[in-house]
Amino acid sequence: MISRKDFLKKGALSALTLPVLSPALISGKTSKTSTRKTRKDLQGAAKNVIFLVADGMSIGTLSMGNLMNQRQFDRTSHWIQLYNSERTYHRGLMDMAAADSFITDSSAAASSWGCGQRINNGGVNWSVNNEPLRPITHIFRDAGKATGLVTTTRITHATPAGFAAAAPSRNLEDEIAAQYFEAGIDLLMGGGDRHFNPDKRRDGRDLYGDFGKAGYTILKDKASMMADKTPRKVLGIFTDSHLPYTVDQNTVPQLRDNVPTLAEMTKSALDRLDQHPDGFILQVEGGRVDHAAHGNDPSGLVYDMIAFDDAIGVVFEYIENREDTLVIITTDHSNANPGVNGAGLTYTDAPMMFDQLQKFRHSNEWIQEQLPKEPTKQQVKEIIEQATRLQITDDEAKMLIDSMKGEFITPYRAERTPSAVLGAIQANYVSINWLGGVHTSDYVELAALGPGSETLTSFTRNTELFDIMVDVAGVRAYAEAS
Ligand SMILES: [Zn+2]
Repeated sequence: MISRKDFLKKGALSALTLPVLSPALISGKTSKTSTRKTRKDLQGAAKNVIFLVADGMSIGTLSMGNLMNQRQFDRTSHWIQLYNSERTYHRGLMDMAAADSFITDSSAAASSWGCGQRINNGGVNWSVNNEPLRPITHIFRDAGKATGLVTTTRITHATPAGFAAAAPSRNLEDEIAAQYFEAGIDLLMGGGDRHFNPDKRRDGRDLYGDFGKAGYTILKDKASMMADKTPRKVLGIFTDSHLPYTVDQNTVPQLRDNVPTLAEMTKSALDRLDQHPDGFILQVEGGRVDHAAHGNDPSGLVYDMIAFDDAIGVVFEYIENREDTLVIITTDHSNANPGVNGAGLTYTDAPMMFDQLQKFRHSNEWIQEQLPKEPTKQQVKEIIEQATRLQITDDEAKMLIDSMKGEFITPYRAERTPSAVLGAIQANYVSINWLGGVHTSDYVELAALGPGSETLTSFTRNTELFDIMVDVAGVRAYAEAS
C-alpha cells in the first residue's frame, strides 16, 4: 500500500524530473470543447502564482470602477478588458462560505484559499477543532519559492494574514507581525507600523530591528521603495494603520508623495520576486474597497477599485509573453452591494449624477474626521461641500446631525448610522446607493488565467483555489509535510 502522502510526494517529484512540458499543455490555450485538463496533468506547470483580491468587492463595485474608468479616463478596466480580449481566461462564480456562516469575513475567506479549509469567521488558518493550519506561503517557502504580500491595509490585516499566519483571532495583529518574521516571508508591503514599532507594540518588541538583523531592507516611504533595487528581502511599511484612500491620497500632496499606490507596490514586488530562480507566490490586496463599502463611501469605493484595477494592469504587463504564471483575480465577498440607481424619467439623469463623483476631493472617512462632535447644520454643509463640492440641503444636514446623536429613524435599523445616512444623502446627488453596511452572501466573481486556470469549473468552492495553486505550482508534497 502506498500512502496518500507518498503518492503525492511521488507525483510532485516526477513532475520535477519530467522533460519540459509542451507549450500547448502549459499555455492554457485549450479550446472549450477539448477534454478538461485535471490538476494532476498540470502539476508543476506554474512557476509563479499571483493572487489578486479586491476585498469586499460587490459586482456593482466592479461595474462602477469600469464605468468611471470609461467616463473619466477614457479607458476600460483591465479586469473587464480581459473578458473582451483574445486571451484565454477562466471566468466563473465562487462560493466563499465560512464554516459557521454562508456570509464570510475576510479572515475566514483568505484562510479558505490559504489552507484549503473552511474555518469559522474571525480566525486565521485556525481549524474548527481549535488547531493551527499551515498557510500557503509556508508551503511555497519550503518548496524553495519566494513569498510576498502586498496590501493597502495594515499588512497584518485579515487577508494577507490568511496566506501567511495562523491565529485563533484576526485581531492578534502584533502576533501576526511576529509570525511573518519567523516564517521568513520574503516581501511585505503595506501599512501597519503600529505592529512593528517597539513604541507601539504591546510587548515593546522591535520587529524592525529583528527584520533588519535578518537581512531585510526596511522601506518606509515611496521614494525609498522606488530607489531600492537590491534583491534582498523587503519589509515596506508606509503608514501607521491602513494606507489612505486613493481619493484622499490624490488630494493631499504629502500622502501622494510619501505613500506608494497599490500598482507601484505591485510593480516593485514583481521586480524583486522575479529575480528568484525558483518562482514565487504573491498576494496583492486592494483592501480598502471593503472599508469604503462598510462606510457607504462612494468616492472611497470607486477610486480604490480603480487603483486595484491599475495593479491588475501591472500584473498583466508582467505576464505578457510568459506562460509560467497562474494569475487569480477575485474578491473575498460582496459588501453593501452598491450600485448606480436609475434617475430621471428615462434614467438619463443617472450618468450625469454619477459623474459628480469626479469632483470629490475626499472620502467620507475624511468628512467624518473633520466633523466636530456636535456640528451645526452650517458646519456639516461646509465640510461636505469642501470634500465633495455637493451643496446639501438644511434638512439633509439635520438628518446627519440626528444620526450622530442616535436620533435618526429609518425602517431598516442598520441604516441609522452616520455613515449610512451620509451615504444616502450623497445618493441624492451621485445616484449610488447601498444595500447596507456589511458583508453579504453573494457568490463572487472569479477570473483566472495561465497554467491551471483551465481546470476551474464555472462554479468554484473557495477551498478549491488552495488545491489548484498547490498542485499547479508542484508543491503538494510540502503541503502534506508538517
Ligand atoms: Zn469587511
